[in-house]
Amino acid sequence: MARNCVACFSIDYFGVIFIKLVNMKLGLLEYFSYVSNSEYSRCVSEGEAVLNAGHVILCGKTKQEGSLLETVALCLQTSALSAEPHKIQGVFEINNDGVKISKFNCSCKAGNGGKCKHISAVLIYCTR
Ligand SMILES: [Zn+2]
Repeated sequence: MARNCVACFSIDYFGVIFIKLVNMKLGLLEYFSYVSNSEYSRCVSEGEAVLNAGHVILCGKTKQEGSLLETVALCLQTSALSAEPHKIQGVFEINNDGVKISKFNCSCKAGNGGKCKHISAVLIYCTR
C-alpha cells in the first residue's frame, strides 16, 4: 500500500520522536491547490529554493491516528543559518483519494497564516 507510512528510522529531537515519511507521496495537484493563489504564488518558487538549498533539515511524522498523520519539520532560517530553525507542524489526511493537506503552520512571521516558503518547501519535499 503506497499510501501507508512505513517506519524506516526514527530520531529523537527534544523528546519528539520523528519517523521518516516513506511512501507517502503528496500529489502535485494537492500541493498547488494548497499554496497557489495570487497572494501566495511566491510560495512555490521560494519554497523550491529553500528545499534545493538543503535548508529542510528534518521532516517526519510524529503521530498517526486513523487517517490523520501529524508531521513536524525543521527548516533553517535563510537569513540566519546558525539561528534556531523554524518549526513547521502540519496534518495530512490520508484516505482513498490520496493525501490531502489538512492544516499547516510555521514558527516564522508569515507561518501563522498556514502558508510560507518553509511550509511550501516541506510540502514540495513530500511530493518527491
Ligand atoms: Zn515559515
